Amino acid sequence: MSNEKKSIHDLLEFIDHSPTPFHAVEEMKNKLRTQGYSELKESDAWELTSNGKYFLTRNDSSLIAFIVGTKTKDASGFKIIGAHTDSPNLKLKPNPAYDKSGYLQLGVEVYGGVLLTTWTDRDLSLAGRVIIKDKKQPQSKLVRFDESLLRIPQLAIHLNRDVNEKGLALNKQNHLPPIFSLAGKKGSTKDLLEKKVAQKLKCKPADILNMELSLYDIQPGAIGGAEGEFIFSGRLDNLASCHAALQALTESKAKDSMTRVIAFYDHEEVGSDSAQGAGSPFLKDVLERLTLKSDNPRETFFRSMANSFFISADMAHAVHPNYSEKHDAKHMPILNGGPVIKCNSNQRYATEGVSSAWFEMLCKKAGVPVQKFVVRSDLGCGSTIGPITASNLGIRTVDVGNPMLSMHSIREMAGTKDHLPLIKAFKEYFIV
Ligand SMILES: [Zn+2]
Repeated sequence: MSNEKKSIHDLLEFIDHSPTPFHAVEEMKNKLRTQGYSELKESDAWELTSNGKYFLTRNDSSLIAFIVGTKTKDASGFKIIGAHTDSPNLKLKPNPAYDKSGYLQLGVEVYGGVLLTTWTDRDLSLAGRVIIKDKKQPQSKLVRFDESLLRIPQLAIHLNRDVNEKGLALNKQNHLPPIFSLAGKKGSTKDLLEKKVAQKLKCKPADILNMELSLYDIQPGAIGGAEGEFIFSGRLDNLASCHAALQALTESKAKDSMTRVIAFYDHEEVGSDSAQGAGSPFLKDVLERLTLKSDNPRETFFRSMANSFFISADMAHAVHPNYSEKHDAKHMPILNGGPVIKCNSNQRYATEGVSSAWFEMLCKKAGVPVQKFVVRSDLGCGSTIGPITASNLGIRTVDVGNPMLSMHSIREMAGTKDHLPLIKAFKEYFIV
């Protein structure tokens, strides 16, 4: 298998194993462990060794991993790649179960900027975290159903005659609850849901204290296009960036005076303001703790921050042939054209002149092509964790990411020839 094929195969497997941020973090922890990384707890005292490899998590949905630089105590600084673990989706409400018109249904909340219509008429299932009773303290357990449990059926065109002219308008409260079963002798929807979850976790329904479950599409990712040039999968935004950065870090074997860091956050899709989001002190706390054993810790920390660099990695908007007027004519990234540097002078992206030039040089050294994106002047611009972490940490930052179509759809689309180049650029940064 070529390196390119292997990287795509690995990526699709990673995304298929990661229907929720909890699962993505678990997958990454397993990979880090097999690569010799030790888990740290924020509540423990840390004894870190030079060139040692470590990781830690918050809420089991955000993760930071790093290789301690050989001159960390001398303020050599941090090389960081940041990304996010969450994707827009539909989440079950705390009391989701209800009966209506002879059906058992589950109430859902919209998480982030979901492209709602793409969730209709698909084979959906449930995955997430369940908190169960235990003798000492409540335990978190991952749960995932592989079978198609749920569906959000569209209304037949005969009952919605002008849907093709007016578009499908979905009311978030009324039109999104999926059908789970038929009402009848089985008991209530609540009983049925709890029974299924309890069976899966081999516990009693009464032991379930709480459930944080999301809907997900059971169709696995695939390679498509006339010559296998495309990837079709859910959650490419932004698990593809997490995968590329994790790959680059775990392949970094050479010693480096700077500390290499990956920081993957939950809650980017809802604004990053949470204890484990990019707006939290999670990363800053870890970076400061890395310098605590130097002679003058506070001074070393500030000097380290000034010597650091941050790559904010998130997917970018490729030009869509049916809507090419939505792009600025001089900034139309294409699939398989290489990583995109994202610019916005209103600071929706944190890229500035120096960080952009630096990333371009890095790609050149790695033999990777680069594209540039700026949104049309008459359209609003999306954002990333870049501006949030840049304003929290004061570290020079560039916003980059691979081009894609159907962003925030249940099934997104990207190019097979972009992923390995992004990994190569990150490896150039981390030194392999
Ligand atoms: Zn994103």
